[in-house]
Amino acid sequence: MKTSPFYAAPSQHLLRCPFTACSFLSPFTGFEKMANLCTVFIVSPLSSFASFSPRYNQASAFRGPQNQAVSKRPRRPVKAAFTRCSHASAIPPAPSKRNAPTGSPLHSLETGTWFKLICGASSHDAPSIRNLCAVYTAVGVDCIDVACDLAIVRAARKGIAEGIMRRQSSHSPFLMVSVNAGTDPHFRKASFAPSACPPECRRPCEKVCPADAIDLSGVIIDLCYGCGRCVPVCPPDIIRTLEYQHDPRFVSAVLEDVDAVEIHVGRGQEAEFRELWMQIGDVASRLKVVAVSLPDLGGDAALAAGLQSMWDVMKTHVSDTGNGPRLIWQADGRPMSGDIGRGTAKAAVFLGKRVREALNVARIPGEVQLAGGTNDATVPLMQANGLRRVGHATTSESFGGIAVGGYARKIQQEALKDVCGSDGNLSSQDFEKAYQAAKTLVDGIKA
Ligand code: SF4
Ligand code: SF4
Repeated sequence: MKTSPFYAAPSQHLLRCPFTACSFLSPFTGFEKMANLCTVFIVSPLSSFASFSPRYNQASAFRGPQNQAVSKRPRRPVKAAFTRCSHASAIPPAPSKRNAPTGSPLHSLETGTWFKLICGASSHDAPSIRNLCAVYTAVGVDCIDVACDLAIVRAARKGIAEGIMRRQSSHSPFLMVSVNAGTDPHFRKASFAPSACPPECRRPCEKVCPADAIDLSGVIIDLCYGCGRCVPVCPPDIIRTLEYQHDPRFVSAVLEDVDAVEIHVGRGQEAEFRELWMQIGDVASRLKVVAVSLPDLGGDAALAAGLQSMWDVMKTHVSDTGNGPRLIWQADGRPMSGDIGRGTAKAAVFLGKRVREALNVARIPGEVQLAGGTNDATVPLMQANGLRRVGHATTSESFGGIAVGGYARKIQQEALKDVCGSDGNLSSQDFEKAYQAAKTLVDGIKA
């Protein structure tokens, strides 16, 4: 592979940018010859990515600790940013710490009432993320998951502080960042050149985008969170997605500022997981929570093997009986789909059940958290299948909680659709509307 003298290419498709300490997995033939996409944002005049560069020069994503400029995009209110195993029940749950103070996020995890807000691993819409964090902090969520980006971490911290202040509460959620071990749909951005759009196109891409991330200038990178819905609806098929990966050194720097990390792992990515963990494990072991997000890794045997492999890598750093971070296994049922309809809840519940059973059989510690398609139908479905901790009693088959992303952001959009302010700050009245919408969702697991 031809590489630029400015970049190191540790694998065939992975390109690293020395300016911003991030990497991109390039799906495009010849893209390696152009430059790293990240650098396109900063120094390259390449016209084929013109739709990226003007906005991305202002974006916070993928910037290293030295590059802390904040987006100059006009501020606006919250908007998108957003078969039971026959012997499992006979096996006692793996040993676990269960002594967190009442009311703390870890106590919620122990009692099966944990709620995590997902702002989007690839969402870099700082004003909206700040507002989301304010509203959901006020409601009392246990954890907020944001992109691994220092500017976004700062925006989230501001939102959390605002939520605490507005409700006169002392409850502060954990702040988590998401990273990927390898190629993952949560870590990508859509792109197309507007000049290639046929004039007669009815712009279905704009209509399906849940984040309002497409306009006449192309994809608004800050807003795009990589759901991919715009790709199949484009008649001339000109929309592409660009995957990226953060440099582990950069991830380690960000982890110094947060409480928790979530590592996304896909099928057959155990080696990439091991490689990443070797580089961030020491820092991660000082956090309060380490989560591993996984889709269906295949059949039950593949799932069990994958879980065992990852646990073997982490167990020297993560001990559920010592002082190490709590371990969460996130069952990512149908990624980034919770806002599509209530039916999407099924995939996460049933994957979570399989993950829980596999962990029990192998006596691997950790709680199971549902994500990917989660919405207001998730908790009733858990309950109907006996997977909710009744009376907060721990069982070897129930879940620690849920994580909600697209649906949590969608109900905020709906609650605030008439808000016209442009400074990004919510009035007390608007905040109350958003608060009530969020409370109804979060109470589903808390009540
Ligand atoms: S629809 Fe396309 S542009 Fe919109 S968030 Fe999803 S991937 Fe990004
Ligand atoms: S659907 Fe495709 S061709 Fe039409 S406006 Fe969107 S990107 Fe352009």
